[in-house]
Order: sequence, then structure tokens, then C-alpha cells
Amino acid sequence: MITALYPGSFDPIHYGHVDIAKRAAQLFDKLIWAVYDRPLKNLLFTTEERLKFMRQAAQDTPNIEVVPYHGLTVEYARLRGAKVMVRGLRVTYDFEIEYQTALTNRQLAEEIDTVCLMTTLKYAFVSSSTVKEVAFAGGSIHEMVPPYVETALKQRLAQLGDDRGDKIKQVSLQE
Ligand code: ADP
Repeated sequence: MITALYPGSFDPIHYGHVDIAKRAAQLFDKLIWAVYDRPLKNLLFTTEERLKFMRQAAQDTPNIEVVPYHGLTVEYARLRGAKVMVRGLRVTYDFEIEYQTALTNRQLAEEIDTVCLMTTLKYAFVSSSTVKEVAFAGGSIHEMVPPYVETALKQRLAQLGDDRGDKIKQVSLQE
């Protein structure tokens, strides 16, 4: 039985993440979809909120377990008996980061391998930051995130009011 771990911030999940989680669940006997539990500082959603979105996305996939974790990711993988770490690749820039992370993790735990799945083309441009930036600027995120994430994101942005700029990186979508 092969257990794989798919770790990340998932603040919030989008369809690119869901696609990788579901494809990985078909490749491995069990997928632990794990959200890094860290202080809210630069995050828009609490760990509980992020877990709730992930559980909703995984509800029809019984071999996905959604959990929070903290500390070194390889240590958590070891603890859970996961021999594989799953990551998603969108663009070549992701590769540089994932390559470095995979080699570091291998140094720390040589029994654990990283498996990278290529994004599905239609999600290649989607990231949590893009989703937040588009929503912040009033654009439609309908094709990027599940409806419950879209609703929660709009509510959170409304709640934050003028403070929301600090939580959202504005890169290039508006002046
Ligand atoms: P994001 O990059 O969207 O802010 P995370 O840092 O939480 O999200 O990413 C967790 C994992 O999901 C990483 O391996 C990342 O490369 C992968 N991932 C993120 N977006 C996509 C996407 N659109 N397609 C495939 N994989 C993705």
C-alpha cells in the first residue's frame, strides 16, 4: 500500500489544487492532503476554513484524507508512513522551486520521494495569489475555484474592508 502526502498552504484551494489531489488519489492507495497549519499573518483563511474547503472538494474521493500539520513536512510524511510527496507543476518557474525542495527533502529523508504532476493545461495560470488578486479587483473567479470558495472569498474581502490590501499581493492585474 502506497500512501502519498500532498502538502501546501491552500489559501484557498482552487481547481488546480483539486485536480492534482484527485489525480494523485488515482495513482496512490491513499492520499493525505495536508494543509500547513501556521499563524494567520499573511493568510486570508484560518486553518479550519482551509480544511473545510478541502474536505468539501474531496468528499466524493474516499481515499483522500484532509489534515492539518506543522513542522517539517518530511517528518510529518514519516509519521504518517507516506513514501511519496506529491507536488504540482505549472510553469518552469515551479520546477526550479520544486527541484530544490525535493533535493532538500531527500537529504533529510532519503526514503521519501517527490512525484510532480503536470498541471492540467486550463489551470496552468491559476494560483491562490491570482485568485485573491482577481477577486480583490472585482473580477470573476468562477472558473478558478469551487462555488463555496468563491462565496467565502467575497465575504472575507467584504469583512476586511480597507485592511484587505495587506493580505493580498497585487502584482499586475490593476494599476
Ligand atoms: P499556490 O501556488 O496556488 O499558492 P500552494 O503553494 O498551496 O498554492 O501549492 C501547493 C502545491 O500545489 C504546489 O505543489 C503547487 O505547485 C501546486 N499547484 C498550485 N497551483 C497549481 C495549478 N494550477 N496546477 C497544478 N498544481 C498547482
